[in-house]
Amino acid sequence: DSVEVWKEFDKSKVYMADMESGLHYLFRVELASHQTLEGEELKTFKDFVTVVAKLFPGRQSVVKLLETLLEWLVSLPLERIPYDAILDLVNNKMRISGMFLSEKLQWVGCQGSRPELRGYPCSLWTLFHTLTVQASLRPDALANTGLEEDPLAVLQTMRRYIRSFFGCRECGQHFEAMAKESLEQVKSLDEAVLWLWRKHNQVNSRLAGALSEDPHFPKTQWPTPDLCPACHEEQEGLHVWNENKVLAFLKQHYSSGNISPKYTS
Ligand code: FAD
Repeated sequence: DSVEVWKEFDKSKVYMADMESGLHYLFRVELASHQTLEGEELKTFKDFVTVVAKLFPGRQSVVKLLETLLEWLVSLPLERIPYDAILDLVNNKMRISGMFLSEKLQWVGCQGSRPELRGYPCSLWTLFHTLTVQASLRPDALANTGLEEDPLAVLQTMRRYIRSFFGCRECGQHFEAMAKESLEQVKSLDEAVLWLWRKHNQVNSRLAGALSEDPHFPKTQWPTPDLCPACHEEQEGLHVWNENKVLAFLKQHYSSGNISPKYTS
């Protein structure tokens, strides 16, 4: 095994390499544990590909790959799709036509101090925060997909993806419980952005100090004051979030202008 060289990165940026590596892992590793997709799982996978193809602010080659995969899934009248067929499409056909999803996992903002830490779960959070923000910035992007006009489209797709496919079953159960409790209250695309932020912070506080925590990346309530001073306020001696400022911060942080292409191949 080669020793990975530490990649310098800026915490105030989002890295395209993390999201592309996350998609790479999702298509080539996570999905591979399912031999065929059918029924609810197939519907969940189609919706996932729809949301990513329409909202992912990625490089043209990657978006093209996702759109081709989507067209193929939508046009196939099959009720069951073998995983190998999806892998074929992602791997070979795409390469021939010059469409490309990075060959190698490159964690940047998601790199861990040991190989088993951070990485994929970090990239999934990053991807879904980016997708909720994109949905709120481009409310028409899901037109004619069957998912339009639903402020919950991205979150429900994430919920169902996590429930059916995410390798960490315990994470899936925790996330499902949070969704069941409060997802219904989300009425707008902006509220969806804030809901995911709030739930991610709940997960952070639950996991602070746990074995899965990377000692170099302690779980914190995010964004920390150095990233967004205006997000933090004090009322009668207690910390409170200024949610308007948090929303503005999230919409800036996860916008395409803040996604760095550094370390993409
Ligand atoms: P992560 O928590 O993965 O965060 C990634 C990046 O997102 C951070 O570096 C930061 O830049 C940004 N960020 C942090 N907080 C927020 C926020 N509130 N809003 C927006 N952006 C933020 N692990 C378990 O052990 N048990 C679980 O039950 C569990 N449930 C999970 C549920 C889901 C849906 C997912 C995707 C992951 C879950 N995980 C769980 C994994 C865990 O949450 C972390 O992803 C993992 O421990 C890696 O942590 P990290 O330090 O890379 O930061």
